[in-house]
Amino acid sequence: MANAVPTDLLTPDAGIAPRVSFVSLGCPKALVDSERIVTRLRAEGYELSRQHEGADLVIVNTCGFLDSAKAESLAAIGDALKENGKVIVTGCMGAEPEQIRDVHPGVLAITGPQQYESVLEAVHSAVPPRHDPFLDLVPPQGVKLTPRHYAYLKISEGCNNRCTFCIIPKLRGDLVSRPAADVLREAERLVAAGVKELLVISQDTSAYGVDVKYAESQWKDRTVRARFLDLSRELGSLGAWVRLHYVYPYPHVDEVIGLMADGVVLPYLDIPFQHASPSVLKRMKRPAAQEKTLARIKAWREACPDLTLRSTFIVGFPGETEAEFEELIAFLDEAELDRVGCFKYEPVTGAPANDLGAAVPDEVKQERWDRFMQTQQRISARRLKRKVGTRQQVIIDSVGPTVAIGRSKADAPEIDGVVHVASRRPLRVGEIATVKIERADAYDLHGTAVGF
Ligand code: SF4
Repeated sequence: MANAVPTDLLTPDAGIAPRVSFVSLGCPKALVDSERIVTRLRAEGYELSRQHEGADLVIVNTCGFLDSAKAESLAAIGDALKENGKVIVTGCMGAEPEQIRDVHPGVLAITGPQQYESVLEAVHSAVPPRHDPFLDLVPPQGVKLTPRHYAYLKISEGCNNRCTFCIIPKLRGDLVSRPAADVLREAERLVAAGVKELLVISQDTSAYGVDVKYAESQWKDRTVRARFLDLSRELGSLGAWVRLHYVYPYPHVDEVIGLMADGVVLPYLDIPFQHASPSVLKRMKRPAAQEKTLARIKAWREACPDLTLRSTFIVGFPGETEAEFEELIAFLDEAELDRVGCFKYEPVTGAPANDLGAAVPDEVKQERWDRFMQTQQRISARRLKRKVGTRQQVIIDSVGPTVAIGRSKADAPEIDGVVHVASRRPLRVGEIATVKIERADAYDLHGTAVGF
């Protein structure tokens, strides 16, 4: 997915400032990398350009996760070369520079993921920065590519797991956790700048701190351990919604459910299960797959009845049999997850999974995907319907002439459904309103604002 640079980040042409056009592709983690690079560039006096044409340089932050994402990245580089000519490539695909050079030998430089310094060095040598301390101001919270009222907060880089369908550890390396105080200071700055919702991301959020042995760091008047539970509790004290993404069901996740029940963090867990058949999970080498998932889900819901569970799954994994797929469908019926995404397995070059079993034919993948989606749609619709008649807190993302669009605590931006809100007084983007839910369809809710 490409993220355009919002127009409110574009400063008027000062005539002399070097201008950089930026393309950000890929997942929220890549978006956070883009924000860091853009923040540094703005701090050094570079300006952002809305178009490649006329800019001094283009930076393309690529995604290399799936072959289709690589193709999209290569196309974006091609467009930038055609429209501008001076192109620096960074991001996941930068870990395999020869793949880029083979197609686009004319790019100026290629750097890998999180190599912020190398990107900046490449920019400096292509277009030297302008030095003007009075114009080089950057908002203290950094430049954000997401709307002002929510922000992604990356707590670690890399991953210690070795899921067989994934090459991220190869691209990004092993887990490196940020000190808790560092994360909290960034979160504090974001909240002070008006952010109302913090989206905690990493490759494996519940493994946070394992690599640094849960080291303590000093924040305000106390020490905070780099532990998933401790960090979640402190983030929850900042007064913003805190939403936890990419959590694996390790046993200690149970403790965080208590924080959700107490309203400290949002009652929302994004747990990418990927499959439910024990044999497929074993071939996938998924973390924490041996835990008794259904019993855990039941216990979580008992402890926190408002809990929303979101997950993603892969169908058509190499060697997936009809019986294994049926196990997945039975799990869906039993688990009754609220929000679910499903991908058809795509062989990623270099992923061990490609050799683990016979490839599932495309038409079988498609047929399983259809059955999966039909099953889940029924479940999601049923769960959404239970909300009709309730009152929900809704954060407003956009406003139209008659109806505003927002999200309840159960909806993460971009991946979940929305709430369509009618209101007798105009709502503002970023405001949190109480909404009486009147109707539900397969994915979304509809209601009227009753409290502001
Ligand atoms: S947990 Fe698995 S899928 Fe996620 S980044 Fe790590 S290796 Fe890849």
